[in-house]
Amino acid sequence: MTLSAQKPAIDMLDLVVIGAGPHSLSLLCRLLEQSPFETLTDSDHQRYHHIRTKSKNKLVRDCCDTIDVDSLKPHIKVIDANVSSGGWMCQWNKSFEALHIAHLRSPVFFHPDPFHPDALRTFAKAECRECELLDITACFESGCKKCKKTKQRSHFIANDRRQFFTPSASLFQDFCASLVDRYGLDDVLHQGNVTAITPVNPNTPSSYFEIKSFNKYTGEYETFTAKRVVAALGNVNNPIIPPWVHMIPQHIPEKRIVHALDFVQCLKSDCEGCHDDILPDQLKEQLNDLSEKPRLLVIGGGLTSAQLVQLAVKRGFKDITLMTRGVLKTSQFDLSLDWIGRNANTLFASFWQAPLAERRAILRRAKNGGSVTPEYMALLKCYKETGVLEIKEKQEVRQADWNSHYEKWRVLMSTCEYEEYDVIWLGTGAALDVKKEACLVSVLESDPIEVVGGLPALDRNLKWGDLDLYMMSGYCGLSLGPTAGNLIGGRVAAERIAGDLWKKWVDESEELRSVSEGARVKGGREVKPDLFSLATMTGSFENFWSVLVE
Ligand SMILES: Cc1cc2nc3c(=O)[nH]c(=O)nc-3n(C[C@H](O)[C@H](O)[C@H](O)COP(=O)(O)OP(=O)(O)OC[C@H]3O[C@@H](n4cnc5c(N)ncnc54)[C@H](O)[C@@H]3O)c2cc1C
Repeated sequence: MTLSAQKPAIDMLDLVVIGAGPHSLSLLCRLLEQSPFETLTDSDHQRYHHIRTKSKNKLVRDCCDTIDVDSLKPHIKVIDANVSSGGWMCQWNKSFEALHIAHLRSPVFFHPDPFHPDALRTFAKAECRECELLDITACFESGCKKCKKTKQRSHFIANDRRQFFTPSASLFQDFCASLVDRYGLDDVLHQGNVTAITPVNPNTPSSYFEIKSFNKYTGEYETFTAKRVVAALGNVNNPIIPPWVHMIPQHIPEKRIVHALDFVQCLKSDCEGCHDDILPDQLKEQLNDLSEKPRLLVIGGGLTSAQLVQLAVKRGFKDITLMTRGVLKTSQFDLSLDWIGRNANTLFASFWQAPLAERRAILRRAKNGGSVTPEYMALLKCYKETGVLEIKEKQEVRQADWNSHYEKWRVLMSTCEYEEYDVIWLGTGAALDVKKEACLVSVLESDPIEVVGGLPALDRNLKWGDLDLYMMSGYCGLSLGPTAGNLIGGRVAAERIAGDLWKKWVDESEELRSVSEGARVKGGREVKPDLFSLATMTGSFENFWSVLVE
């Protein structure tokens, strides 16, 4: 199947996707799924399945099996810096492993499978692993109560209750691995750290991109050419480091100030065979010595800092301080329920009507500065009661000095008190700032678009101006709203991007269309729908039934 009629070079790919996380997975699955639930209703699915398997009429059966979306794959490459033995979702899997996260934060219908919203729940059932779905219906009930109090229309209907379960990390990991298998996605994956995306002949019919990537296995740079690029970079490239860290006058000794993303980095080097540990050797010895009680300062008010505290307890720390600028808030999701339930449409409607600067402000408000799930909050309370943890709210670090003689931090707090710590862990998150994404520098120079608070102003199809460059992950925030960076945001972005890509591929395959139209009618009978219609259906412009009618 030739997707591009006019390829400028023989090795020209149709699509390069940068990043192999859940968002990229959502896109690849959506591109290759023949019957996505966005297009087919449940009853369509049933009828389609029935015809495919039971119909006595071979012609009709053949008709259902003619979509060969697999032939797309040789034209697509997914490049990720962190591909190792782990394959797809390396960043996600290592984050969960590094922070010992047992369950996801989001409900069971947040997943990358385009086939059905209940796909993850069905997978759990089929694998006899329903016990790995953690009940969070308390959150559903509190959402309903809150609405009753404020006399608002309830966020949820009774039927939604069954969605209020969160999958275990391993169930979700296996589910995603099953998607990689189902759509045969291992072959498209390639290791490489993309350092530059350069548009060539932009805004002309022969436009394409040069993608420069560093391969850690060969130690060499490679250059790929592609007609279209999707950047699904996640939010891993710009850790937020508080300003006082940059003002430390002394040389910062290794592993004495660590960001949460460094924990993941340690595991990544581990999978290459050279084991690394997040704790300095001397501190490990102190932790093993019962007479010593090294002090740890954890900074941050979100779920990651609570996870760091849990990890510290597991590593043997008995004197931990958790410091946050605000107060610790409890919430199951990293967004208010208003953005998840059925009332969300009203909020999204006003979001899309707002000017870009206001949308950026709404995105910040929706996050509300970070929160901790009820499960982790209970854990923190327990640590506090047993004297392992002290929680300092509404406090900040002003200044820190490293005393190399005593090997301790001397920290000046916003309360003007000094305290000593052995090590500092930062659960301060990462910033979405498109101007700081190294691989996008040349795009920003050659084809600048409006950037508001670090986020690019993309079009409805998440496209970068006139270029055939699409963005996923939190970078779609201004177009998709506060759920953009979550798993569900990946599926919404995939829907929009896949639709646009298929439309383009359809336009380019005019040549193919005329060939296939010739093959359509044999002996006066329609043999199979042409590729134009199939692409239209797969791109969700029409559903399968209208294609069959045609
Ligand atoms: C610890 C944690 C738990 C979370 N839990 C949930 C949850 O339960 N539910 C939920 O909805 N959301 C959750 N999120 C939020 C969000 O869903 C995740 O961050 C998710 O990983 C986003 O998917 P992604 O594909 O956009 O990014 P990532 O998973 O981060 O993948 C991006 C990939 O791009 C690669 N990459 C980046 N730059 C380059 C480059 N220049 N060259 C090559 N490769 C590059 C990275 O190596 C990475 O593998 C969680 C986030 C974190 C950090």
